[in-house]
Amino acid sequence: MAQIVKDQYIYEFSHHHEPAAVITCGDTVEIETIDCYSGTIQSESDLVTDFPDRKPNPATGPIFVEGVNKGDLLEVHIQKIELNTFGVMPTRSNRGILGEFITETQTRILPIQDEYITLQDMTFPVNKMIGVIGVAPGENAVPTTTPGDHGGNMDTKDVKEGSILYLPVFHEGALLALGDLHAAMGDGELNGSGVEVGGKVTLLVNKAENFMLHMPLVKTADEAIIIASAVEFRDAVKKAMKEAVRLIQQKTGLEFADAYRLVSAKGDLRVSQLVNPEVTVRIALPKEWVGI
Ligand code: CA
Ligand code: ZN
Repeated sequence: MAQIVKDQYIYEFSHHHEPAAVITCGDTVEIETIDCYSGTIQSESDLVTDFPDRKPNPATGPIFVEGVNKGDLLEVHIQKIELNTFGVMPTRSNRGILGEFITETQTRILPIQDEYITLQDMTFPVNKMIGVIGVAPGENAVPTTTPGDHGGNMDTKDVKEGSILYLPVFHEGALLALGDLHAAMGDGELNGSGVEVGGKVTLLVNKAENFMLHMPLVKTADEAIIIASAVEFRDAVKKAMKEAVRLIQQKTGLEFADAYRLVSAKGDLRVSQLVNPEVTVRIALPKEWVGI
């Protein structure tokens, strides 16, 4: 199995990077990642403000996938997510939705053991997920802080163990990279961070045959979930919805208005995150309504 170690990372998705590894469609790969603070925070005395020049969200890779080209669809099976033994949650003023109420920069270290996280006297189960995962975008490089049609910083909690993530490919080899694991995160990522953690991810990477998407889609046990990002919330919703209608029409042959009705009748709009340079929303449809 191909292995990519954690010191091979990028801070922007771009087709100009040299691949950290080359794999072939159908290969399984194990990828080590460092946390979104590049491992600079190891104790509660390390503060995010101690590193003003540090770039956020390193993504391990990129991985060149032989056999995929521009216009293809990458199919990423998330087989396993293994976490390090502690997560990090800093707070600082003006970060997150209630950032104006935070006056002091603070770091909290959250121990993780046997799939449970501890904060002070509170213990709760992990919901492990990948915050940043994407491919080289079309033209310009996109920082790993930002989500888009190439994936990136989507902070979507369905991008988890057992899910299949589909990403449109813009360049030969796709140039897949990932990082920013969260031991837990709720919809919205409301204070601006998940339980940020390093770890190891096992993926099986393939090409989806005869299918095209304009933006990422993640498939769970029961749902096909379209992921859309835009600067304005309503624009992101509109984008996800247009793709949802298109996919239902493609699968069923229904006219626009009927597919639109079905999205309204059964599609769930969910907020992935509201704290990145573009917001990310998703629309979940019954899996059997989408032909992938
Ligand atoms: Ca993130
Ligand atoms: Zn994160």
